[in-house]
Amino acid sequence: MSERYDVIVIGGGTGGYPAAIRAGQLGKKVVCINAWLNRDGKPAFGGTCLNAGCIPSKALLESSEMLHKAQHELTLHGITTGKVAFDLAAMQARKNKISSGLTGGIGALFKANGVTGIEGWARLLGDGKVEVTPHKGDKQTLEAEHIIIATGSEPVQLKIAPHDGEFIVDSWDALDFTAVPQRLGIIGAGVIGVELGSVWSRLGAETVLLEAAESFLPMVDAAISKEALRHYGKQGLDIRLGAKVIKAAKKGKGVEVSFELKGKTETETFDKLIVAVGRRPFTDKLGAEDVGLELDERGFIKVDKGYRTNLKNVYATGDVIGGAMLAHKAIEEGVALVEQLAGHHTQVNYKAVPSVIYTSPEVAWVGLSEAEARDAGHEVKTGATSFAGNGRAKALEAAVGQIKIIADAKTDRILGVHMVGPYVSELLAEAVLALEFAATCEDIALTMHGHPTLSENFHEAVLSVDGRAIHAINKKRAA
Ligand code: NAD
Repeated sequence: MSERYDVIVIGGGTGGYPAAIRAGQLGKKVVCINAWLNRDGKPAFGGTCLNAGCIPSKALLESSEMLHKAQHELTLHGITTGKVAFDLAAMQARKNKISSGLTGGIGALFKANGVTGIEGWARLLGDGKVEVTPHKGDKQTLEAEHIIIATGSEPVQLKIAPHDGEFIVDSWDALDFTAVPQRLGIIGAGVIGVELGSVWSRLGAETVLLEAAESFLPMVDAAISKEALRHYGKQGLDIRLGAKVIKAAKKGKGVEVSFELKGKTETETFDKLIVAVGRRPFTDKLGAEDVGLELDERGFIKVDKGYRTNLKNVYATGDVIGGAMLAHKAIEEGVALVEQLAGHHTQVNYKAVPSVIYTSPEVAWVGLSEAEARDAGHEVKTGATSFAGNGRAKALEAAVGQIKIIADAKTDRILGVHMVGPYVSELLAEAVLALEFAATCEDIALTMHGHPTLSENFHEAVLSVDGRAIHAINKKRAA
């Protein structure tokens, strides 16, 4: 006899484990099956985000930023130190401790919410049945009224630059380097490219990013991506746009990379090469073909607006269904789905998905860029203010960057907020709320912001839309 549940969640990353917890809160008998094994062979909940992506990369970004500040900023504050040095092994140990602390905490959350966690592989058998092959113990068959697939994604590998885990590596390997490469090549100047590039460049690697596209961070408003590119360049990141890698192979103790740039073929040699050209859906060992689960041509599981697959009572959420490959988008989808299954009316607002790049300065945005707003047919008005006149930013020694507001000229409604600057990852929450509540510029203009804070610059940027910023030169005159 197979054990029966209300909900089986396949995948224990950010698409899966929060959905399982929410199902537990709603009184469902729920099991979450998770195959993830870390490089040390130990299983862990939390998926890519907690084990091999968002969290470990933020830990290393913070450590390397701290080193940069110690080397370059402390003297500006009048602080002198001895020679500043760093211990990469200690940095990595700190990073690993942060990850394991968080992934370990999921077990406690499961217990508190009555969720059963199983570490092992799940395979769809059809008719509400799932075969589980645990990492330890015997195979078993489980049954449920509802099955949720949240199996996530994995780095895209390139045939022209075959992954060997040592010289040609992916974003996970690149978080675990045990020595700083002297020369680091990165294929792709997307989110992962610039974040990992920042880490290793601050730690001393001469870093070159080869980006096939002519435009840089095309999803970000052009004024913001242009400014970000300028700052990254000043920091020493050598970002080559329009550089299409055609071949990479191990040569001696390094990697030789050939790429086309402006009609010529060029060659560079690196100690390590990170391939950061996107992520692909992960459905290995799921038995999708055997049960006839429909995938699209790129391997994403096809779902409707209610996250239903073509199989009865089988649903999918998160990276494996495509869209923005972001942990918070996956969390919201999983939770919304479970609430829908429990009879609640919830939905995900895809027009208010926050995005952040954790470089220095940070880049953050929500909603439409100016170009997207025009393409969508809006009569657009914009405003922007720099952090140069913001007292808090100056005190932080971080008065760089700007906030740009994109609004509808007819309705005054805010359509997008795109930013580059200090802690804009945190300022973004107010912008997301503005979009979620369909705020107008006037709503934000009438909202008091604390002084001195970075958030004042959001207020000023909104005021500047109608030419009435107080601490910035307005491009247009106030009415
Ligand atoms: P990406 O899509 O952001 O960038 C990949 C880049 O590689 C693109 O700009 C593409 O033009 C380029 N490229 C592809 N083939 C190439 C070639 N042969 N030569 C040169 N350039 C080439 O993908 P990513 O940076 O790998 O990130 C993967 C996913 O993970 C994204 O969806 C990203 O949003 C997500 N992620 C988010 C965060 C965050 O929220 N801070 C951090 C890391 C990753």
